[in-house]
Amino acid sequence: MTLSAKAGHVARALEARYPDALCALAYEKDYELLFSVRLAAQCTDARVNIVTQTLFRDYPTLRSFAEADLPALEEAVRPCGFFRLKARDIRAAARMLLSEFGGRVPDTMNDLLRLPGVGRKTANLILGDVYGKGGIVVDTHCLRIANLLGLCREKEPHKVERALDPLIPKESQSAFCHRLVWHGRDTCVARRPRCGDCVLRAYCDFFHRGA
Ligand code: SF4
Repeated sequence: MTLSAKAGHVARALEARYPDALCALAYEKDYELLFSVRLAAQCTDARVNIVTQTLFRDYPTLRSFAEADLPALEEAVRPCGFFRLKARDIRAAARMLLSEFGGRVPDTMNDLLRLPGVGRKTANLILGDVYGKGGIVVDTHCLRIANLLGLCREKEPHKVERALDPLIPKESQSAFCHRLVWHGRDTCVARRPRCGDCVLRAYCDFFHRGA
């Protein structure tokens, strides 16, 4: 089976298993997704959603983030860990969005990468979820499961992104990556993949190696 054919089977099986898989982060505005993703580094989405419930109420506009008192913002995001760095990045990003992008989150990879705290994973998530442009979001689940399946043999996120990009149609990339996250949480868990319950086992190199 070609890699493209395998990727197609995997994508369809994931869609059937997780038809409504969306980003697990709660947001309404484009910059709220950007800031939630920043907070989610080394933190769970569930905890981020608890924190942002209050955060987005207390800082209801982009300008309120840009003008935030840094120690107060640090305190507000403390439960997410690395709170000093995250608060500084969020305030700096809010300032840049206002001063250089007219208060909107930009829609190109190059512009997104200029924002403080934004790497390719975040940029691809924004391009896919906010702008519908697609983007392979390589988080820990995507990296691990893509290698187990044999869709790639890469350990560096940008190489996984490059390997998967031609295998998944642009318009499906965002949902595909969200579904891998759901799959990594409920079936292909890192410590002990539950292969017996897995809808992907027919296409999985790891399973067929008899592991
Ligand atoms: S068969 Fe096992 S290793 Fe392969 S994707 Fe499913 S749970 Fe993960």
